[in-house]
Amino acid sequence: MRLALSLLPWLLAGCVGSQPPAPLPAPAPQPLRAAESTPPTRAVASEPLAVERPVADPPRAPEPRVFSQPLAARSETRAAVLLYHAFNRGAQPLSVRAKDFDAQLAWLSDHGVEIVSVTELIDFLEGKRALPARVAVISIDDGLISVYTQAWPILKARRVRFSLGIPTGMLEDPKNAPVMTWDQVREMVASGLCEIASHGHMHRRLVNLSGKRQWEELELSRDLITERIGTPPVAYYYPLGAYDPPSADAVKKAGYRAAFRATGAPIAAGSGSHFWLPRVSIFHGESAGVLSHYYGAKFMGQVRYRESHDPGVGSR
Ligand SMILES: [Zn+2]
Repeated sequence: MRLALSLLPWLLAGCVGSQPPAPLPAPAPQPLRAAESTPPTRAVASEPLAVERPVADPPRAPEPRVFSQPLAARSETRAAVLLYHAFNRGAQPLSVRAKDFDAQLAWLSDHGVEIVSVTELIDFLEGKRALPARVAVISIDDGLISVYTQAWPILKARRVRFSLGIPTGMLEDPKNAPVMTWDQVREMVASGLCEIASHGHMHRRLVNLSGKRQWEELELSRDLITERIGTPPVAYYYPLGAYDPPSADAVKKAGYRAAFRATGAPIAAGSGSHFWLPRVSIFHGESAGVLSHYYGAKFMGQVRYRESHDPGVGSR
């Protein structure tokens, strides 16, 4: 499908479409998966002593995973999922200066905030993993080329994990949109730092979508990501921030483990449905100082740990 040149401002302007959070019933307790199996091992026969070495599974995951901060009690962990779009593309609201991005990553490191992958956050919410007290996830939507040219060198140099929300149709037919190539995406994934989430296929609102168009946004995008990078996405980032209970049900039925909107709030275990988790948008001109607001007691105090709403309670 042909994409108009006007797509970029539409993407940039629309991604943080705000919707008032609709009331949502507490998530039903979910069956927990069996404990993760021990990685297979192999003997290294060429060395004087037979040494058992783990074979990484999946191979792209950096091992071992050691957090820089101590693990916290489940009720004490608070996370903010930071949402970026473009870098060094002038003064557009959703284009962050690379030097500000670098300073923000430095701020997180300097203030004891652990940057984790989106899968690690979901593992925590499902009760499969403990995390430190203050956590950030770096998420970047839309698959724009400036992510590769401007942000990736910084993320790589700092060895920071991040998640890209890819609208698959735009990478499949990129001639009219300034998006990355699948080869560039694969390069970032191969580093072990980058995970791919679905940001739909044609970046459509899921609300009131049905039939083939809904299938394209949820199932086709999932299958294309799986085919192009070899790993299915676990997270869905709602295009234009648009969601409602039927959309959340459709995302869940398509096999995603979690979905994220674009309106800002922190996350705690049991703080809400895993299918419209909040994200915090970072805008043009915001310095590292904005993070002292998001990680301050007032903002983080917006959510409380609720054991009664925590499907992962008692599971570890
Ligand atoms: Zn978007």
